[in-house]
Amino acid sequence: MRLKLQTLVNEPGCDHNQSKTDKQKKEACKKPTPGATAGGCAFDGAQIVLLPVADAAHLIHGPITCCGHSYNNRGTRTTVGDLHDYGFTTDISEMDIIMGSEKKLKESIKYITEKYRPKAVFVYSTCVTAMIGEDIAQVCKDVSSEVRLPVIPVDSPGFAGSKNLGNKFAGNSIVEYVVGTKEPEAVPENSINLIGEYNIAGELWQIEPILKDLGINLLSKMTGNATYDELAYANKAQVSVVICSRALISIARQLKDKYEIPYLEGSFYSMKQTKQTLLKIAELLKNDELKSKIEKYCAEKEEATYAELEPYLPVLKGKKVLVYTGGVKSWSVLHQLEELGMEVIKSSTRKSTEEDIDRILDHFEGDQSALMPKGDGRTILNLIKEHNAHLLLAGGRNMYNAMKEQIPFLDVNQERHFAFAGYEGMVELARHMAYTLTSPVFDVAHSKAPWEVM
Ligand code: SF4
Repeated sequence: MRLKLQTLVNEPGCDHNQSKTDKQKKEACKKPTPGATAGGCAFDGAQIVLLPVADAAHLIHGPITCCGHSYNNRGTRTTVGDLHDYGFTTDISEMDIIMGSEKKLKESIKYITEKYRPKAVFVYSTCVTAMIGEDIAQVCKDVSSEVRLPVIPVDSPGFAGSKNLGNKFAGNSIVEYVVGTKEPEAVPENSINLIGEYNIAGELWQIEPILKDLGINLLSKMTGNATYDELAYANKAQVSVVICSRALISIARQLKDKYEIPYLEGSFYSMKQTKQTLLKIAELLKNDELKSKIEKYCAEKEEATYAELEPYLPVLKGKKVLVYTGGVKSWSVLHQLEELGMEVIKSSTRKSTEEDIDRILDHFEGDQSALMPKGDGRTILNLIKEHNAHLLLAGGRNMYNAMKEQIPFLDVNQERHFAFAGYEGMVELARHMAYTLTSPVFDVAHSKAPWEVM
């Protein structure tokens, strides 16, 4: 576990690690610190990556509170099954801690496979079961031969670190136990893996048609709307495309080391980023014909998108936005806002990688004061006032801050209900920002109460 942890926090695939000396590489990127699990522990992070695989069962080996902690808190959508909606847990008690609970785990796996007939079972370790030394890898191996199904251990005790580290634990289980265990029916030309896209609010369904129009085949999605089988033959793709850089670059790097699949980091937020990502895919596929096709396709799509944006652009132009989100969103959404003619006051870096922060700084031309490392409710409200912000883009928890300040708000985090990727997503984002900015509720909220005008 210690060795695995060291490897995962020192991900060689990260840009900043590539320039380090061997001695520096032995030091962790960001060591877990007390409080690092606030906002999601490593177990939670592992589930974020794997739960979208809805034709597989997900069994949490731990107290029932671990299951409740993260149950149903993501807006991931799927058409391949509904097993991600079941809260399977071994629900271990004090007696199990004293006597051991491996037997209970075995029985639980057998029960799930008999009753629900999943394609596979992912078994997650949690703080308590890791601390009492349960050997879930051995149990999974033993039961797998009995039930004749893949039973995949996910070593993800919450105390190991943050949600992002848990993403890497899940990625590690995928590469170690799943990839390379099945053969696809066929591998069409231009086949890619899409890594780090979880189909939140259906964003994958905005990206898929673009790839399809260009003849790029999505062989394996990791893991939005993915089947277990497609994870198993991801080694057959020609290129891996990583969408969320921090979370799953380790999968792409391991696929490169093991199967020589080149990878790139990209984003489908904003028209410029979409085009750049598509061109990078064509580059790695060594397909010049595809490149010319992309140039033409993107030009047409951009023209059509601007036509659709026409009613919203006058409302959005020049509006000041405070962005308080995390990870890849902290820089990618900036490109969208820029294309819509909006001004970003600051962007949060709380859950961002060093690469994410570099990209935010690129946007602000190196201005460090545009970064927002921490932000509680009071800080956010003060910034809104200080800069006369018109709009807050943040996660659902910050909705109440916006309500208190009576300013327009849009949820752009994982629990959001609207999808903002690709060309269609640009229009959707513009529409929802324009709706909230022009909502008549703010006129009422900012007007005086009847007893104040008397
Ligand atoms: S794995 Fe640990 S930190 Fe995470 S929910 Fe369970 S007990 Fe809490």
